[in-house]
Amino acid sequence: MKNILLTAFDTAPFSQINTQDYEPAFNQAIADAKQEIQQIIENKDTADFKNTIEAMAFSGMQLDRISNIFFNLNSAETNEDLQKIAQIIAPKLSAFSNDISLNPDLFARVKAVHDTVTNTLTTEQKTLLDKTYKGFVRNGALLNETDKTKLREIDGQLAVLSLQFNENVLAETNAYQLHITNEEDLAGLPDGVIEAAKNLAEQEKKEGWVFTLDYPSYLPFVTYAKNRELRKEIAVANGKKGFQDNDFNNEQIVLDIVRLRNERAQLLGYQNHAAFVLEERMAQNPENVFNFLNELLEKAKPAADKEFDELSTYSKKLDAIDQLQKWDGSYYSEKLKQERFNLDDELLKPYFQLENVLYGAFEVATKLYGLTFTEVHNIDKYHEDVQTFEVTDESGNLVAVFYTDFFPRKGKRNGAWMTSYKSQWIKDGKNERPHISIVCNFTPPTPSKPSLLTFNEVTTLFHEFGHALHGMLANTTYPSLSGTSVYWDFVELPSQIMENWVYEPETLALFAKHYQTCETIPQEYIEKIKESANFLEGLATVRQLSFGLLDLGWHTTNPSAIKSLKEFENEQFASTQLYPDVAENAMSTAFSHIFAGGYAAGYYSYKWAEVLDADAFDYFKQNGIFNKEIATKFKENVLSQGGTDHPMTLYKKFRGQEPSPEALLKRAGLV
Ligand SMILES: [Zn+2]
Repeated sequence: MKNILLTAFDTAPFSQINTQDYEPAFNQAIADAKQEIQQIIENKDTADFKNTIEAMAFSGMQLDRISNIFFNLNSAETNEDLQKIAQIIAPKLSAFSNDISLNPDLFARVKAVHDTVTNTLTTEQKTLLDKTYKGFVRNGALLNETDKTKLREIDGQLAVLSLQFNENVLAETNAYQLHITNEEDLAGLPDGVIEAAKNLAEQEKKEGWVFTLDYPSYLPFVTYAKNRELRKEIAVANGKKGFQDNDFNNEQIVLDIVRLRNERAQLLGYQNHAAFVLEERMAQNPENVFNFLNELLEKAKPAADKEFDELSTYSKKLDAIDQLQKWDGSYYSEKLKQERFNLDDELLKPYFQLENVLYGAFEVATKLYGLTFTEVHNIDKYHEDVQTFEVTDESGNLVAVFYTDFFPRKGKRNGAWMTSYKSQWIKDGKNERPHISIVCNFTPPTPSKPSLLTFNEVTTLFHEFGHALHGMLANTTYPSLSGTSVYWDFVELPSQIMENWVYEPETLALFAKHYQTCETIPQEYIEKIKESANFLEGLATVRQLSFGLLDLGWHTTNPSAIKSLKEFENEQFASTQLYPDVAENAMSTAFSHIFAGGYAAGYYSYKWAEVLDADAFDYFKQNGIFNKEIATKFKENVLSQGGTDHPMTLYKKFRGQEPSPEALLKRAGLV
């Protein structure tokens, strides 16, 4: 019987795939891709763009399609069998990609093209050449053998340290429990939270209620629990993760990671790790990021100071609190917010029936980009909850296939994401259109009620739909530059900008209708949503900036000058500090984003993307939020361009100028 994954299928043939097809399909596709690379290396002709760079860009296409299907399903509809296959396949895939990026013969050809580049290349081709060349160089291709070995050693050590860091954080998280047996100590907590704590206690065969340092348990506790001593206890425990005198201490690991990253960067010719990372970001270099963070801080700090005073006064009035502490912040913020806005999710949900919200998002895309979404039933799917759509343009041409998968179930991971089953490219004159999917975990329908979304879920849907538009409207030649294949600090622009439409009465009028009465959401609610979105925004901004500054500090400072982790942190926090320091707590020892995730020297990108989306939306706002001309400029210069050019160039083509933080500060009510 033939293996469907190795045939030339169009949309993913889910129903025809047997689980045992994956492994042989991967093996075959990897072998084929290797063969394609070998042919490039053995080509007798002088290396040129077409026979080397372009040939590489179009190699391993079947492997990509198989990988997309497999890893998408491993996130959205997994089971033990798939997870086992993932364990086997992941090392094979990384070995394959190392075979390419460490192959000296292949690099020799790439370098030859790079060094003799002529002006005959298009912008997209130049970008592809540069990206391909840098892919090798940033992995040490230009180093002598001794330094290459050193680089591999550092990479090996870093991989181990990151794992160790994560394991320690996890161990510390699991080691702590707040066990409550006196019902009075639950005062202030919502029923759902109490119920979850009760379940947790029952699982552990304990009396009463159990809270842990897992966020779904920890956050509600510090936000709602009236008992200040207990808030303090759990918050201090949380701040101690990786910073205690035990086997799970991360202090030395942090210092080692920072030292090795710096060594690695210098080996490759960069001043520090941040300079290495930011070379491939819209922000370009550490100086730009410092300026960016400090400019925002200058504007946000006065607002944060004012809000901190307001919160202090409020807590004093309410509970005679003398000095607001870290474990008080969330609690009094939430109380004050409730008092001021009284905006309950349950009040809003009836206006946000999932089907209406989805069709609202479609209608926004129709108004802006002329897209039509037609549900179709002839496309194979992996679960009955999945819906499939054909997306067409104004002339009726196929733009994309679009999948949606909205409800939680066993086998789907948490969160919401956009992904693709097939990317977009142009080959031999044929524009291959992409197959895009969004996967969420929204409130499911019940026998008596349709799926009604919280406002937060509505913005999530628009956010993921924004990523999806980036994928669907892609119009580039090479798949590796297509759609969302852009620099990291640029990828959230298309998604975050879409969230802005949700706050506009003109948009809400399209879809926010009561599921029983069809009445449009009252204007008064819309105003409240907007106001509450900016509530205590100064504090939130300064908090984000403090993380960004800490991250950048770690990755720009000469590591030999850092003697104590805690001291270093306090120096980095000096300009952003509001709450009194807690001596037995540290942030870095559990800052997994930058020491075990991909955010090193990249934490600023959250704010960076907000500046971009606010600035870009402001351009719409000034000219009408459904202005076709602006939308076309956004589509042609940003959405369709993927990573074919530097994001700043693309952005300026759309906007006519560089992004400015003014719009964000205005939107956030900070100026
Ligand atoms: Zn996103």
